[in-house]
Amino acid sequence: MKVDIISIFPEIFEPVFNVGMNRLAQERGLLEITGHDLRDYTQDKHRQVDDVPYGGGPGMVMKPEPFYRALESILDGSPFVLPGGVRTILMTPQGEKMSQELLVDLAKAQRLIVLCGRYEGVDARVGNFITDEISVGDYVLSGGEIGAMALVDGVSRLLSGVLGDETSLEEESFTKGLLEYPQYTRPASWMDFDVPAVLTSGNHKAIQEWRFQKAEFATRTKRPDLLEKD
Ligand code: SAH
Repeated sequence: MKVDIISIFPEIFEPVFNVGMNRLAQERGLLEITGHDLRDYTQDKHRQVDDVPYGGGPGMVMKPEPFYRALESILDGSPFVLPGGVRTILMTPQGEKMSQELLVDLAKAQRLIVLCGRYEGVDARVGNFITDEISVGDYVLSGGEIGAMALVDGVSRLLSGVLGDETSLEEESFTKGLLEYPQYTRPASWMDFDVPAVLTSGNHKAIQEWRFQKAEFATRTKRPDLLEKD
């Protein structure tokens, strides 16, 4: 998968994607992440990406043309005529809220191009030439970059061949509408806290049942809203 991120701070992605699973995914050729400096797509000598809002009000609004030109350059064609498998995503608190389901869907794409806003947000006309608007949650951040990191990180670990054991994806929180069961590792006995005996029993059926019950309990007590869904 190819991922392009357009931002006025493209350098902040490097340390994040150069460790762990994301690094591995790139080394294995499953993922290619490129940061693009939005200012490279301005045409004035001040490389201006923002301007005052029409109608007045505080702050600055990001101009539409640099985003358009960046997409045009990355796509080597019009953002209005996308090749198959390409999704162009604007990070915005007004977008669809990110979920595991959405990430699974995004992981099927061949290319994701993510646009990060700053300041008071972006000129509404950007909405005319993108395919998706995505939010990280019902709160306002100062820029789209952290959301873009979360999105790309979440998608990257879903790409086939990134995780050593793909079954770990099936058991995870949200995948089956439940939170994950509690996990333990060595030592079996530590301070006053012992690992539940069933996990060291070797009885796989009993372990499976215990895990299901615990996943159900965790969901019911911590996130009952997940059980009410569909
Ligand atoms: N004035 C805007 C918020 C602008 S915040 C409003 O009220 O809707 C500046 C930029 O940060 C946005 O353009 C967006 O790219 C990013 N951003 C802020 N909160 C976000 C969120 N919850 N999800 C995704 N992007 C967000």
